[in-house]
Amino acid sequence: MSRFRKKPVIIEAVQWREHGDHPDVGYFRRPDVSGESICSECGCRFHTHGWIDTLEDGHRVCPGDWIITGIKGEKYPCKPDIFEATYEPVPEYVAKDPVAIAGQPQEDLGGRRIVDSVTTYGAYEPPI
Ligand SMILES: [Zn+2]
Repeated sequence: MSRFRKKPVIIEAVQWREHGDHPDVGYFRRPDVSGESICSECGCRFHTHGWIDTLEDGHRVCPGDWIITGIKGEKYPCKPDIFEATYEPVPEYVAKDPVAIAGQPQEDLGGRRIVDSVTTYGAYEPPI
């Protein structure tokens, strides 16, 4: 079996805390779950939660979750601890032109270490 690692990718993300923080996060949408009941993941009442449509169906958004926009425009939530372990801010010079810079051999970048900056090995996979 061959071994692989993820290619460096740059994603966009917004940390969601309340309604209005992200245009794709709507109100919590589970008619079978009372808004007064407590979420086992974050300990907050469900009426403080959001909901995001995903490719599979939809997913609850806890306050503090990051909403990631993936490389194909897909959006999914990510727990803050996983986000912190997986992603880091992209330096300004990479964010301005990520494709051109990512395509260059590292030695052409005047010693700047872009691999460390944009690598997201083990990126979070949305739950199925
Ligand atoms: Zn929650």
